[in-house]
Amino acid sequence: MDLSYILNELGEDREHYFNAVSPPILQTSNFVFRKVEDLTAALENEMGGYLYTRGLNPTIDILRKKLAALDGAEDCLVWNSGAAAIFAGIMANVKSGDHIVSVKAPYTWAQRTFDVILPRFGVTTTYIEGGRIENWEKATKNNTVLYYLESPNSWDFAIQDIKAVADLAKKGNIVTMIDNSYCTPLYQRPIEMGIDLSMQTATKYIGGHSDVIGGVLTGSGKMMKKIFDSEYLNIGSGLQPFNAWLLIRGLRTLPARLERISHTTREVVAFLKGHPKIDGVLFPLDETFPQYELAKKQMQGACGLLTLIIKTQKRESIVNFCESLKHILMAVSWGGHESLVVPKCCGIAPNDFDSGNKEHRYVRMYVGMEDPQYLISDLDQALATVV
Ligand SMILES: *Cc1c(COP(=O)(O)O)cnc(C)c1O
Repeated sequence: MDLSYILNELGEDREHYFNAVSPPILQTSNFVFRKVEDLTAALENEMGGYLYTRGLNPTIDILRKKLAALDGAEDCLVWNSGAAAIFAGIMANVKSGDHIVSVKAPYTWAQRTFDVILPRFGVTTTYIEGGRIENWEKATKNNTVLYYLESPNSWDFAIQDIKAVADLAKKGNIVTMIDNSYCTPLYQRPIEMGIDLSMQTATKYIGGHSDVIGGVLTGSGKMMKKIFDSEYLNIGSGLQPFNAWLLIRGLRTLPARLERISHTTREVVAFLKGHPKIDGVLFPLDETFPQYELAKKQMQGACGLLTLIIKTQKRESIVNFCESLKHILMAVSWGGHESLVVPKCCGIAPNDFDSGNKEHRYVRMYVGMEDPQYLISDLDQALATVV
């Protein structure tokens, strides 16, 4: 399906709403019935029509159709956060006594699900370095039901051979789920590589303006129906109509924003690599990246997230660098219009800081929509404070 068609037309029945270009926000909690038999049918199969907005809603459906098509998936469910999408996708596919294999250091709230919540129900997780297919094989047990991937990871950008992991999983009837937030379906297509459940946060690139939280799960119609009938309705963390409308609006400009950001990121990476106060840059589509060949093979592009490693022995220098930035903001999240940094050492007590450990000197940077030179000058003056 044509990308322009998906973003501009798919799912939009304009004749049903006065031929308005922008869809209405159907800010309603419930829907009216004339006939008891229709109400009965809706109660029996909530995914079959509009009953109550914790289930389906027409504004939200426009977004679902577009996101499913973007991923090349049969169906999609949208959530009030990426974390909710992760939680539901995992919960829907495990039961007591099951085992999960996950990439090491997945997104915080995926890891919390594995480490804190699931053990209470007798579900265990083995973390592996996911870049080697043998590691998935070795970690798989008789009771393994789920492989959890995140490719690339959002700090060191570690990637997995997605197709190889999906093929291995199919042999053992194991469900595969991936966090595809970094690439978005524009730059990586996990469903087409054989993954069962593709998750992304909508908060980052789809929203694109740092003003909405949302999450996405795509997969087969059967998988989405299973999740809808239990976790989606039961957790009650589906997206709200106004937020769906904001995300539809964000989608209109997604390709243009990603293109601009990718271009600027190249310039920022080139500047950083040549800087004497920088001890390396992690960016999956840079030739120095350890898994560059695999990244090139399965990713059609990279986003604006990168990690720079400051050349210093002192935590204080990293603090000074971050606090000296005049335009680049210090904040979590990414994917918006504004460039950001987060230093890894913000989570490391000063006494535990070890400059010999490169990870302690990581500063994650997100490149936004500003002019490349504006960002480079800001980085340059802040790097001048590093000793
Ligand atoms: C932000 C993020 C999430 C979670 O999304 P929320 O919308 O913040 O809940 C999941 N995975 C990755 C890689 C993220 O960066």
